[in-house]
Amino acid sequence: MKNKCRACKGETSQKGFLFKCINKDCGAVFWHRKILSENLENDIVFKKQLLLAEIPPTKNKDHFVYVIQLSRKKNEVEDSVYVGRTWRHPYERYLWHLSNKNKQGSSHVIKRGKVMINFEGPMSQQKAEKREPELAEELKDKFIVYWG
Ligand SMILES: [Zn+2]
Repeated sequence: MKNKCRACKGETSQKGFLFKCINKDCGAVFWHRKILSENLENDIVFKKQLLLAEIPPTKNKDHFVYVIQLSRKKNEVEDSVYVGRTWRHPYERYLWHLSNKNKQGSSHVIKRGKVMINFEGPMSQQKAEKREPELAEELKDKFIVYWG
């Protein structure tokens, strides 16, 4: 499996199918798409992959906002990102998107999800609801932004 960081091209560490950039200024994370050959609709298989990736547990009221960079479409010259909000750990949420588990994937991320470049949290649900559109707005200078 290719293991260079998809954001900065630096070195990564691997746990299961999850790759994490070891450059602290970057910190991007991505799931290798080979994980999609596992039967992720099966909850036991899905949970096992989360364990292998050592995704930290979250508390009941934790919420997060996150940013996933998308692969460029043919002839696209600008990068795009998807901004979302979740009560799951963001790395786990990313996998729900990629695998479209229980139809909980965004079409943008299912097809073009490339690398999670950032997440914020844990925070309260209220804060996350406020932060999501703010973050989308902040990213508009640099990216085409999809959210919500
Ligand atoms: Zn990186």
